[in-house]
This record gives sequence, structure tokens and C-alpha cells, in this order.
Amino acid sequence: MENAALELLRTTFGHPGFRGEQAEIVACVAGGNDALVLMPTGGGKSLCYQLPALLRDGSGIVVSPLIALMQDQVEALRQLGVRAACLNSSLDAGAAAEVERDLLAGDLDLLYVAPERLLTGRFLHLLERAHAGHGIALFAIDEAHCVSQWGHDFRPEYRQLTILHERWPDVPRIALTATADAPTRREIAERLALEDARRFVSSFDRPNIRYRVVQKDGNGSRALLDFIAGHKGESGIVYAFSRKRVEKVAEQLQLAGIDALPYHAGMPNEQRAANQRRFLQADGVVMVATIAFGMGIDKPDVRFVAHVDLPKSIEGYYQETGRAGRDGEPAEAWLSYGLGDVVNLRQLINQGEAGEERKQLEVRKLDALLGYCESTDCRRQALLGWFGEAHEGHCGNCDNCIDPPESWDGTEAARKALSCVYRSGQRFGAGHLIDILRGVATDKVQRFGHEQLSTWGIGADLDVRQWSGVFRQLVAAGLLEADVDRHNALRLTALATPVLRGERTLRFRKEAPRSTRRRERAGA
Ligand code: ADP
Ligand code: ZN
Repeated sequence: MENAALELLRTTFGHPGFRGEQAEIVACVAGGNDALVLMPTGGGKSLCYQLPALLRDGSGIVVSPLIALMQDQVEALRQLGVRAACLNSSLDAGAAAEVERDLLAGDLDLLYVAPERLLTGRFLHLLERAHAGHGIALFAIDEAHCVSQWGHDFRPEYRQLTILHERWPDVPRIALTATADAPTRREIAERLALEDARRFVSSFDRPNIRYRVVQKDGNGSRALLDFIAGHKGESGIVYAFSRKRVEKVAEQLQLAGIDALPYHAGMPNEQRAANQRRFLQADGVVMVATIAFGMGIDKPDVRFVAHVDLPKSIEGYYQETGRAGRDGEPAEAWLSYGLGDVVNLRQLINQGEAGEERKQLEVRKLDALLGYCESTDCRRQALLGWFGEAHEGHCGNCDNCIDPPESWDGTEAARKALSCVYRSGQRFGAGHLIDILRGVATDKVQRFGHEQLSTWGIGADLDVRQWSGVFRQLVAAGLLEADVDRHNALRLTALATPVLRGERTLRFRKEAPRSTRRRERAGA
């Protein structure tokens, strides 16, 4: 079997050898066993079901959530001479009937199908006949994290996929995903009845990606332009928080002479598809997008992924940045964030419709991400740690490893900031609080008589940027929270008390001076 697999890998797919755990996974499934595969984006998951489907009798059925992804895969397989087809809503009745005939005639090696289509009575009946006839080689469940309600790609139909196992227990199943922290992993196994499946957990490390986090100045476009200047003529993706931001950032980049295109769910379909095509086919296009863009995009030479706004979770962040450098060449993952992002996301969670339990989970995920952003330690260690993977020593390829940040004892500054919040009545945002601390007599300060406060001018030793950093880190650490209904006025949380009482010390990351423009290239 192993020789047959290797032979097929070479002759049909043109690869000299297996990568990572591919060989073991192929052997497992080809041998009729179930498998649960966790592999980072670009790791080579497709071969893990394509090869066993070719090695076993009958057709392999692949459940895939995205039509565009299916079509790309089928196209690529056909070019290799593999008999592949897909069934989804984009086919007309005649074309669909032809695919069904091919399946029953045993003329298909692989059939890709959308979950909602698979679950129809008509399709299940078709499978029954195929199983009784030429046989079903395997069921592959791609993007298996869609079964998890906590993930960002929840697809309710995925929950019903256990029907495959119930109806055809003799057909091996393989579930694959690139996104799964420990709880999601458990949920996948449980929801898909794969508790007994062999698990293959690849290293999630992407050593060629350099991680970097910077503080946002204003809306972050200056820093972004500086960053992209270091990637002239290269393809990249810029993720932004909302459709409006996408439009705006794309425009700013275009004005700066960058070949940038927008992509978000609010655009007309043709326009979106056209932009995607250009990104995939042309060199050096920068796609500015919401997270609607990317799942299943297989462009190997994306040299950078930039986030101009804070993503929602480490998991999402890792998946998005994983689209950089799939060819193994040096690539960069760059993230800029500021106090506004923290406030925005906290607000989004609070105002959401989700139940209390879910909100708490989202808060924990956000906190983990903030911890990552503010960390002075190796970024890679932090990211991999989130996926339960240890990384030996420092990576040497992230901003904190390359240029270790200084930290400082921020206990006193924090105490000044917190008491300023308290003395001014917990009614003001960071900008005004900084004016009070630095003793800047603005109109607003005078109107409220804030020159009279005991905290007036006690922070003249730090500049605006440093104070912004203090407030941001206090919000990130949960000592302050922003009141959305009152123009993001900051107020104390219970966590602030030990600091005010002198029972707790704090260390802060030193803000990089604004003038430093690091333009070293990834891997340079
Ligand atoms: P994933 O689905 O895990 O994101 P893919 O299956 O799309 O990854 O594979 C990513 C890229 O790696 C593809 O271009 C694929 O051709 C290539 N690839 C996969 N396995 C191998 C291998 N054993 N040798 C060489 N290239 C491979
Ligand atoms: Zn590092």
C-alpha cells in the first residue's frame, strides 16, 4: 500500500515525497480507518483524502463548505487526470444529472459536495445506490471546525453529518481542519462521532512567517504604508474590521500608488469575483478585505498578511496569517492595534445578541489576543502555546525576538492614571484624561474645572504617546473599561483596586518612538 501511495504521489501529483504526516494519514485512511487531521493552512491536507480515495475502490465523497473552493480543487484534479466532479447550487439540472450518472457508473474518483446538498433525501439515496454498486471509497469532511458553534465559521448542517457514519459504518471517514484549539478539537470529535478516530496533529508552526505587532497611530494608515513600502511589488492581504474600513483603506493604498483592491461581502458578486481573480492571477496585488476573504484561497506567494484592526481571536488571527508564505519562502504577518480596537471589540461583544456563556468565551478569546499583542516575549511561542504546542526556545523570527522590547515599571504611572479616572468622575475618555495628567489647559479642562484636581499635571514626565500606551495597556489588562454609551468614558474595574492600594505592581511595554520606521524585509 505504501509503495502504491508513493507511486501515485509521484506519477499523478508530481511530488517527490510526502510532507509531514501525510504518509501515515494516507495509510490510515486507505486501510479503512477513521482519521481526524489537524494541519495548518498550506500543510497539504487535500492529499490526505485524495490519495486514499484513489487507492481504494469506489468514489471518495468530499464534504466542503465553499463552492469556490470545490471548483478550484476539481479543476486542479482534472488537470492531473483525476476523475473529479462537484455537486453544488452553481450547476444546472442537466450538469448535475450528468455528475450523478458518472457517480453511479463508477466513473468518479472524487465527488465534492456541499453539506446542504449531501443531506438531501435525493443525494443520500444516490449514495445508497453508489455504495451498493461501485462502492464509496471514503467520506472526507473538510473544514471540520465548521461543526463548532464557538468557531467563526459555524455551519449547522455539519452537525448532521454523523448520518454518514450511521448509514455506512464500513466507509472510512477523515475530518480535516486548520483551525482548532483544544476545545474545538474535542467538539469536532464529539459532534462528528470521531472519538475513536486516529488523531494526527501536525505542528502548527510556520517558521517562515515573521510576526510583528505595532501600535496604531490614528487610523493606522501611516504605519501600514510604511510596512507595505517594504514589500514593493509583492502580493499581500490587508484585513480590516468592517466593509467601510476596507473601502477606506483600499482607497488610501490606491492613492499611495499601490495596486490595491477591496473585497467584502457587501460588494456586487461580479466585482468581488473579478477582484479575487486579479489577486490570484496578477503579481503584486494587495487585497484589502474583511475576513470574508481567504478561506480556501490557495495562492502560494502571498508575501504578507497585515491586520489594520484587531482580529477577534488568536485562532482567527492564526488562520488569516497562515495565508502568507504558503510556498515556504519568507513572509510577514503584521498587526497594528490601539486602544480604539480594544474598545470596539469589547463593545461588539457586549452589545451582541449572544448568551452570557458565549459572551464570556468571546471575552476570554479577546483577552488572550490582547495578551499576545502586549507580550514582550516571543510571539511564536505565544501563538503555538494557544494551540497547545510548545516551541523550544525563542524563535528568532518575530519582532520581540529580533528587537527585544524594553519594559518598565508602570506601577506609579498606572496609579496616577487610575486615580485621574476616579477623581474626574469616571466620565471621560483617554484623550481628556491625558490632558489632565500632563497639565494641558484645554477648553474642556477649564470648563470642568479639572485644573483643581489633585491629579492635574502630575504626569508631565510622560508624553502623550507614552500615556496612550499606559491607558491602552490598562484597558487591555482589564483594569479599566470603556463605557460605550458615554463616548467611551473610562471607568475602573475591580482589578484596579489592588494597584490603587499599592498591593500590585505592573510592568508595561515601552512604546516604540514614532520616528522609528523599520523597513527590514522579511527574512533579510
Ligand atoms: P491545505 O489544504 O492544508 O491548506 P493544500 O492541500 O492546499 O493545503 O496544499 C498546499 C500546497 O502544498 C499545495 O500547493 C500542494 O500542491 C502542496 N503540497 C501538498 N503536499 C505536498 C507534497 N507532499 N509535496 C509537495 N507539495 C505538496
Ligand atoms: Zn520569537
